[in-house]
Amino acid sequence: MSRRRLDSRSGLSAGLLGEIQTPVSTEPMESVYEITGELGRGKFAVVKHCVEKATGKVFAAKFLRKRRRGRDCRAEIIHEMAVLEMARNNARVVNLHAAHETDHDIVLVLEYAAGGEIFDHCVSEELLPEAQITRLIWQTLEGVHHLHQSNLVHLDLKPQNILLTSLSPPGDIKIVDFGLARRLGAVGELREILGTPEYVAPEILNYEPITTATDLWSVGVIAYMLVTGESPFAGDNKQETFLNVSQVSVDYSREAFSRVSELAVDFIRKLLVKAPEDRPSAAECMCHPWLWPQQICLSPDSATIRIVRERSCGNKWPHREGKENRDSPHYHAKRPRFDGEVAAAGDGDF
Ligand code: ADP
Ligand code: MG
Repeated sequence: MSRRRLDSRSGLSAGLLGEIQTPVSTEPMESVYEITGELGRGKFAVVKHCVEKATGKVFAAKFLRKRRRGRDCRAEIIHEMAVLEMARNNARVVNLHAAHETDHDIVLVLEYAAGGEIFDHCVSEELLPEAQITRLIWQTLEGVHHLHQSNLVHLDLKPQNILLTSLSPPGDIKIVDFGLARRLGAVGELREILGTPEYVAPEILNYEPITTATDLWSVGVIAYMLVTGESPFAGDNKQETFLNVSQVSVDYSREAFSRVSELAVDFIRKLLVKAPEDRPSAAECMCHPWLWPQQICLSPDSATIRIVRERSCGNKWPHREGKENRDSPHYHAKRPRFDGEVAAAGDGDF
């Protein structure tokens, strides 16, 4: 599958955050860390395994080139740091530990996610069981909801940027790569061409305003990939991929979804819709019956349950499901204990 990133337009620098709290140390990296193997790489970054000599703690060092295509990109790197700092309280986002500057790079020393990318679970011979997938999607939605509450949009959510704290059994998710993230409202309307062809939302291709709903499209793509092992819009070339995205040409055939529950299909169908305003928010997604088993696992006074209650959409999805889903064993057996309370507070705006 393609890992190419679309060329960004000149407007890319608009709305960058410039304030950071983390000091950028010029002390040589090698004197503080033992840097070993490569964990991953993108177009302008290499991520390496590193151990802090003083503590023995393991981190991931993201080496970001300061000059790219002959242009000084320091502002973009500072922005990525600023976004990570804004998301510091978000347990689903990788933590920024420290930063160093070398001749060519600024190095972000990040919390290490030892389980690798959830991408590996999308292309593996053996896909994860749906119970695991709903857990990962739930956690992703928690992270995305938290970002959106801070008016941050990630804009590059894809299976390569959702990591796991451990591999086997799969740990908790950590969202990484905030290079394309933006703060909404910072510079009026946000319209940029960015992202990765297979994962970009139609509004990005159409140069229409970017909103929090743009990230929810990506959550739909990620869910699709986890349950089917296929990338829903990938064509044989970039043009074909873009056409598939703009026509929302998705394969929901029995063949692709032979071992996938109806609720999973319903969840994905509601996210992969062309009009951003018709997509549910992250909080609304967390009320979808496909994810009810995840709600049941939470204590009634957890922060996430408060989110769900606040959004009070527990009575929204079932009404939209139709008879088929209401009759499914899932509907009755998995109904969360607190559903009555959620429904009672419903504002019916979905
Ligand atoms: P880019 O902006 O170049 O895409 P990313 O931040 O996505 O850079 O990092 C590239 C890859 O490096 C990721 O897809 C992942 O495989 C690996 N990686 C990034 N951050 C971490 C981390 N904190 N822990 C472990 N691996 C990481
Ligand atoms: Mg990346």
